[in-house]
Amino acid sequence: MNTTPLDDIAPLVAAARRAFDEGRTRPMAWRVATLERLRDLLSEREERLLDALAADFGKPRPEAWLTEIGFTISDINHTLANLPGWMKPEKVPTPVAFKPGSSEIVREPVGVVAVIAPWNYPVQLLLLPMVAAIAAGNAVVAKPSELAPATSDELTSLIQELGDAAVAVVEGGVAETTELLAERFDHIIYTGNSRVARIVMRAAAEHLTPVTLELGGKSPAIVSRHANVAVAAKRIAWGKFVNAGQTCIAPDYVLVEKSVHDQLVAGIGDAIREFYGDDPQQSADFARIVNEPHFHRIEKLLHCGTVAHGGVTDADTRYIAPTVLTGITADDPVMDEEIFGPVLPVIAVDNLDEAVRFVQAGSAKGDKPLALYSFSEHDADNETVVNGTTSGGVCVNGTLMHISNPHLPFGGVGESGMGAYHGKFGFDTFSHKRAVHSRSTKLDPALMYPPYTAKKVKVLRKGMVMPDPRDLAAKARNVFRHK
Ligand code: NAD
Repeated sequence: MNTTPLDDIAPLVAAARRAFDEGRTRPMAWRVATLERLRDLLSEREERLLDALAADFGKPRPEAWLTEIGFTISDINHTLANLPGWMKPEKVPTPVAFKPGSSEIVREPVGVVAVIAPWNYPVQLLLLPMVAAIAAGNAVVAKPSELAPATSDELTSLIQELGDAAVAVVEGGVAETTELLAERFDHIIYTGNSRVARIVMRAAAEHLTPVTLELGGKSPAIVSRHANVAVAAKRIAWGKFVNAGQTCIAPDYVLVEKSVHDQLVAGIGDAIREFYGDDPQQSADFARIVNEPHFHRIEKLLHCGTVAHGGVTDADTRYIAPTVLTGITADDPVMDEEIFGPVLPVIAVDNLDEAVRFVQAGSAKGDKPLALYSFSEHDADNETVVNGTTSGGVCVNGTLMHISNPHLPFGGVGESGMGAYHGKFGFDTFSHKRAVHSRSTKLDPALMYPPYTAKKVKVLRKGMVMPDPRDLAAKARNVFRHK
């Protein structure tokens, strides 16, 4: 992998800032042209990117296209279709006391945005925040993850092909990111783990730079005895084993009501065979673990509980079979931290209240999940689960799909992150909402100006404070009564 010389980083950021200060990135024409070019480059370089993703961790090509390239192209198209509407100043009411005048919210770019991305969906998680930042009229400095080195090189080359100082890229690891974080940005979006998030937030605090942190955690799937168990099993298996479990919103573990435990575990086994055949190691559709430390970390977790399916590993190719563990309790090491691999612990509970308490116990420690999945055919069950817990997002009777809807915000809460993006939410994240109130000079009542006579004060006290809604309601009732 190439790395950006440390001495080049400050000049790259300075050039991006110059481009912003010159006003180059503000016009809609620049935003649209840059996004269109980015989309075209993604299509032109599809094969190269898919090769790089396969080289880094055996990401299956169809899966990589769907979750990385297709996902990003779709987001760009959604952004292009909606950008004129998003950019329009938003008219808001002006209370009578402040008339004649008008008010609006103008979404203006914040300046230079740093985008620091992880390795697990290295294309999508670098480009999607960039798309939102560019759409909002900002200059961008992007930092791909060094843990997906081939993809990092490809992304760097793609961004450099834009040939625009307003969209810069820094390649490298901890040293380069540290150097980058010493610079002043107007917003930093970081996707990755909560340890590094704290480093990012500390660096941002030096410049009072706002941050968006997209982190992870243990996302539960809760299965009621009223669930369509066969469908739940399939959807949980898919959400878990896509990208070999290296997905921030993968169901980390399952809490299932006792009476359907065995049926669910059997169903997940059937789904694994259906998706990947009898020997998933031979399947072209199952990814590998990103590196050796992660391989060994995940392999150790296989000693928890009982292996119901899978359990096979191969260190040479960093293969870990899609695995289901049963007989797990909250005290098992597999429940200590986010698994981030193809290992699914299943915990039997007496009822949904117990499942809710289990999730709440984690949340009480600040460990609020990024995603939560509730499976039941009874609305009341799903309400019990959703209302009793918190999480970045929820998908009822499904996994992962909620993040594909560009009309929903994507972001965490507590340890799973702060802030959100996707679609309009990303545009808003990288925009400053500027309050603009325009006044007419035709009338210039002396009311506001000193000297504050008793008469003026009386009128001000009556006219400047919004009325109590109860008084308004009473007034309306009176009018009605007299009619
Ligand atoms: P990673 O190791 O690739 O790190 C992410 C970024 O942090 C990289 O660009 C890296 O260069 C930088 N970095 C690493 N150490 C640093 C340091 N000391 N100082 C400054 N920068 C540093 O990725 P990761 O953290 O292993 O990613 C996995 C985690 O990310 C999981 O917890 C997962 O749940 C989470 N994640 C969250 C989302 C989301 O959208 N919420 C998406 C994917 C992954």
